[in-house]
Amino acid sequence: MNPYWLEDEKPPRATTTHAGHVDVAIVGAGITGCSAALRLAQAGLTVRVHDQRAVAEGASGRNGGFALRGGASRYDVARETYGGEQASELWHWTEHALDRMAGLAGDSLRRTGSLRLAADAEERDEIRAEFEAMREDGIAAEWIDEPADGRFHGAILHTEDGALQPARFVRRLAARAAGVGAEIREHDRVGDVASLDAEHVVVATDGYGHGLVPELADLVWPTRGQVIVSAPLDRVLYDKPHYARQGFDYWQQLPDRRLLLGGFRDVSIMDELTDVEETTPTIQASLERFMGELIGEPPTITHRWAGIFGLTQDMLPLVGRVPGHDDVWVAGGYSGHGNVLGFACGELVADAILGDMSSPQLKLFDPARFF
Ligand SMILES: Cc1cc2nc3c(=O)[nH]c(=O)nc-3n(C[C@H](O)[C@H](O)[C@H](O)COP(=O)(O)OP(=O)(O)OC[C@H]3O[C@@H](n4cnc5c(N)ncnc54)[C@H](O)[C@@H]3O)c2cc1C
Repeated sequence: MNPYWLEDEKPPRATTTHAGHVDVAIVGAGITGCSAALRLAQAGLTVRVHDQRAVAEGASGRNGGFALRGGASRYDVARETYGGEQASELWHWTEHALDRMAGLAGDSLRRTGSLRLAADAEERDEIRAEFEAMREDGIAAEWIDEPADGRFHGAILHTEDGALQPARFVRRLAARAAGVGAEIREHDRVGDVASLDAEHVVVATDGYGHGLVPELADLVWPTRGQVIVSAPLDRVLYDKPHYARQGFDYWQQLPDRRLLLGGFRDVSIMDELTDVEETTPTIQASLERFMGELIGEPPTITHRWAGIFGLTQDMLPLVGRVPGHDDVWVAGGYSGHGNVLGFACGELVADAILGDMSSPQLKLFDPARFF
């Protein structure tokens, strides 16, 4: 079945073509590629975006629609791993990116906040530590001791987060990029980046396109996520995105009262380290059972799908020049957390190509850290 998000009507888009050589060729028309294309075209560069499918048909139109600030790790873990200053800068940087997204999104983003729930006492201790670390560093969040849904053991309310219609957002981004002169070439698979007639190439394929640049093959691991969506419920149960068990389970109720639920990757975690984009009976059954628990009756499922995201060893993205290539750049590897990060990293790689290397995130995300 097709992802629910992709059923949305496509916005009109200008048709631009650039004959021959361009300043920048981008592989991937998801949130990263479209964000980079917009920034570069606005700066006056000639840009061509290639995608083997259509805009947003990779993970950008197949995800859970959570627009979360921060990185893929818990804040307290990020602080320990990358350092306090780096973690705090990263969180604030994504908050600003989310604000910029809101300025572009129209009705594709609702600033509902999000709720990170503790499924048991152990997770309560973990997210309480995260909450304390955020409070110490002046990062806005609220603690909820007893979430309304009685089964959870505490929660962090992230007041500024949002619920995204990701395909709608990315298609609009592509239309904006085309509006300022970027060419968007759909159904155009790139077999070899060296074949692209461009000054710079940006690889924005996240979990797809594994092996396109051999140096990245061991650094970004394709990982599958699965999602189900119910028929509209007769009541509103959730007014914001919810997630629990370290983000292994995530759900949100959509404006038409359908419930979207994804996750349970840990049920067969090794099987999900794949770029085969198909649903599996084991995970689908777990999702259905949990959705039944959430709504109190067996659900009517109208949509099921799988998508692939790119996981990295340290859960941080790779943004910058691919070592060994002067003209090939990468932005990807968001470890399942790419709606806001993907938008921000698309802009970041564009700024780097435009000569602005001043962002501290370029150091943190430098692909050379693995070489
Ligand atoms: C099931 C699931 C749920 C998720 N939930 C969330 C969530 O709720 N919140 C969140 O923040 N993140 C979530 N993510 C992660 C998020 O969706 C991704 O990190 C993000 O969409 C990555 O965007 P992207 O533009 O970098 O890559 P993608 O959107 O995956 O786009 C990559 C594009 O590259 C194209 N491509 C690949 N190879 C080639 C080639 N050789 N030639 C031409 N084109 C090529 C593909 O066709 C694809 O369109 C989820 C991911 C999945 C799979």
